[in-house]
Amino acid sequence: MPWMQGYPYYLIMGSVLSLYMGVNSYRHRNTPGRRYLWILMLLVSVIFAATAGEILSQSFQAKLWWRNLQQAPLFLSTIFIYAFVKEYITRSSDGLNRRLAFFCIPVAVYVLLIFTDSWHHLMRTGVGMNTVAGVSGIEVHPTVLNMTLIAYDQLFGVYAVFLLTVSLLNASKHYFKWNVLMLLSLLVPIGSIFLLPLLKITLPGFIAFTYLPPVIVGYFSIFRNSELSLYPRAKKQIIENMKDGIVLTDGHNIIIDINEAGERMLSALAERTEKSWLGKNIFLLLERYGEVAVYYYRRMEHKFEMDVPGTDGACYGLSLIETESGHGAAAGMLIVFSDLSEKKRYERELLYQATVDDLTGLYNRRHFMRLIENYALQDEAGIALLLFDIDDFKLINDTYGHVAGDQALVDFSHKILRLYENRGIAGRVGGEEFAVCFFADSEGAALKEAEKFRSEMSRHTVRLDGGHRIRLTVSVGIAFTEESGATFEALYREADEALYISKTGGKNRVTLGRQPALLEARKL
Ligand code: GH3
Ligand code: MG
Ligand code: MG
Repeated sequence: MPWMQGYPYYLIMGSVLSLYMGVNSYRHRNTPGRRYLWILMLLVSVIFAATAGEILSQSFQAKLWWRNLQQAPLFLSTIFIYAFVKEYITRSSDGLNRRLAFFCIPVAVYVLLIFTDSWHHLMRTGVGMNTVAGVSGIEVHPTVLNMTLIAYDQLFGVYAVFLLTVSLLNASKHYFKWNVLMLLSLLVPIGSIFLLPLLKITLPGFIAFTYLPPVIVGYFSIFRNSELSLYPRAKKQIIENMKDGIVLTDGHNIIIDINEAGERMLSALAERTEKSWLGKNIFLLLERYGEVAVYYYRRMEHKFEMDVPGTDGACYGLSLIETESGHGAAAGMLIVFSDLSEKKRYERELLYQATVDDLTGLYNRRHFMRLIENYALQDEAGIALLLFDIDDFKLINDTYGHVAGDQALVDFSHKILRLYENRGIAGRVGGEEFAVCFFADSEGAALKEAEKFRSEMSRHTVRLDGGHRIRLTVSVGIAFTEESGATFEALYREADEALYISKTGGKNRVTLGRQPALLEARKL
């Protein structure tokens, strides 16, 4: 056949093509799922080259030498097909290099025995020449030992096909088509080994050509699938660099994945430092947070907010997310931690600003009113509202200046707080008007308390910058009610009217509201 004249050159072209693809794929040697492909391509290149050498050589010895040279790459190629498939499926090469080195020991023994076979004939009972279609190569009669080693080697190919087939069942639709193509191309060299004896194809170099489909498909998969391999890597990067802590547990409550933030936040909440939480039981956290544990062990989704122990106001959010719904306790859980400290601090500040008077630190009018309405007036006990206004405060401002006036207000407020810290609610209801609400047994007791307060305040010395010491007096109006239905407005109006009477009556005195607050309220 005339086309057969070029046969060795086809083999050389195959070798160059595989070499080109191998060199070109070398830069993908660190891409998950692609780490071993360049090695496979170089091995195939050597198989092609050695086969061309065998055919082109004239002497029997030279042909035999080339044939022996084919054996190592041929054996290794099956092992590296296994490595490539394993890594392609799992995207992980953890421990694979060590396993490969171990698997290659019998291959090294095989190659050694092959090259020294002319002395011991452990591998071949006979070696001859075979010419098919004008192409002459070596024909060998293998021993049982030889066949055993070949069988050992072929197991890797069969296992690789098995792995790829199983992965097809679980593959997402992104990977499915490409995996099918990969599987079909792998079946060519691996299937051929078993079919060749049946088909009785004895053309030297045929095996080399069977490796072309997987190498070509593999080569294009590097480019075609680069976005697919990039995507999981990018995702991993995103998760690793996230501010939120991500913790994944399995059905046995063991942490099987965790990012850097997760390690940090878990340590803070569990109050223990672990070199890594990976592989640890999530119980180490849950034993401290009973409520979270209840939801976690029931595999229920929920959100929690928890204060970080040993910190000044740090707060983490914890979300429990199901990984497989309906799998019950057998399913893993995703735990996402987020740092809410800043948000909480902001919320606290907002709350403070909305409820507390800037200058004096007492409750502002609105919050004071809300507290009395929501709590004090709900109580069955008698309560008194003490309203007072500093006498002639304008004079302080006019004499010492506005800043000194402020200072006096602050000093005054501290005094009120000290007096009523644990037995009443105090608020600043106007410029230099304040209010205190406290429980009292009777009108008489309230009046007595108000009188005590007035005299206490009149004896209090306020220190101003510049060494001035001044005394202030207050006019007080007091209202009392024992009815739980009273409203704040009614009580306030009554106290205000009483305060007015104190002012017009000469200041620095106390007046009790004339009518019970409830009567006033009922009239409305
Ligand atoms: P009276 O005995 O009738 O209550 O006399 P008074 O001067 O206290 O009464 P008035 O209500 O006329 O004046 C209150 C003054 O309080 C006027 C205002 O300048 C001053 N004032 C109100 N709020 C503040 C404040 O936050 N800081 C300072 N420094 N002064 C204030
Ligand atoms: Mg005043
Ligand atoms: Mg006033």
